[in-house]
Amino acid sequence: MTIVLCPPCGAEVEDSSMPAHAYVPAVAGCWALFGQVQADEMMRFQYPPAHAIVVDAYMASHPGDGTDRREAQSVVVHLVGLCGLLERGWDSVRSRAALRTVVSRKEALPMLQPWSQPSAVNIHSMVGSRDIDDYDARARTWAACVWDAWAPEHHIIRALLPTTGN
Ligand SMILES: [Zn+2]
Repeated sequence: MTIVLCPPCGAEVEDSSMPAHAYVPAVAGCWALFGQVQADEMMRFQYPPAHAIVVDAYMASHPGDGTDRREAQSVVVHLVGLCGLLERGWDSVRSRAALRTVVSRKEALPMLQPWSQPSAVNIHSMVGSRDIDDYDARARTWAACVWDAWAPEHHIIRALLPTTGN
């Protein structure tokens, strides 16, 4: 077994020959581990509220070099989801709705400076949860670490969140 680094998120993962995502700049082994976490989540917890948090944390922890527009926009919209969750205290349904609102505006989203240092917590923290409460708590811890690691760009993300109805 060969261990490789996933440069964007900083996770050390098993090397994999599986195809990686078309534009998320994760190494194949990291993308495969994300798939395993989601499959386990579906089997044990049947699409819990934490699902959206896990997806947002994963996507927001894979910034590329800015050359792929879809990848750059993906990071922005998933940070909007994390901002709603962590700063506005929205539940994942509402946070997800805010994310969709930002996407539906069809405006060019701002480009972010990629983080200088990956979040201290990564996808590995989601492996081996005891139950749904543990899974949910781990997702929130991960999300908070990812959000903190993007601190220099917080003002840009906050400005994108819908202001109505708050
Ligand atoms: Zn990764």
